[in-house]
Amino acid sequence: MACLFCKIVAGDEPAEVVLEDEHVLGFLDVRPVFKGHTLLVPREHVDTLLELPEPMTVPLFAAARRAAAAMSSELGAQGTFVAMNNVVSQSVPHLHVHVVPRTKGDGLRGFFWPRTRYADGEAREYRDRLRHALVD
Ligand code: AMP
Repeated sequence: MACLFCKIVAGDEPAEVVLEDEHVLGFLDVRPVFKGHTLLVPREHVDTLLELPEPMTVPLFAAARRAAAAMSSELGAQGTFVAMNNVVSQSVPHLHVHVVPRTKGDGLRGFFWPRTRYADGEAREYRDRLRHALVD
């Protein structure tokens, strides 16, 4: 199995998992735009939105909505940025929805995505806070 996100779904690659249901897995992006940046992937491999079976659109978008709600309730985000790259600018060819917590004045503009890093142990803290709302 070569796909990185399939390996994460299978538990063969580490990830800070914040959401899991029958169809979708949600985990922290390793290079977040802002801390708490979550990727939602269909468990079943599809490359892009064009290959996503229509019945999967509802669970995937519902998971994005739940993640956005958790960023508000648990992280105090004022809003979110929800996005998906398809082929162009898509660095992992397993469909994924980015949900990024936003705050007014956070400096995010246009389509340039600055990245930050988690300090040691910090990703786990963010995972626990989001999981609190999404899994527990
Ligand atoms: P995109 O460039 O839209 O395809 O997004 C792919 C995202 O996957 C990027 O934001 C990467 O930081 C993220 N990423 C790459 N490898 C991993 C990994 N092992 N665990 C979590 N996120 C990853």
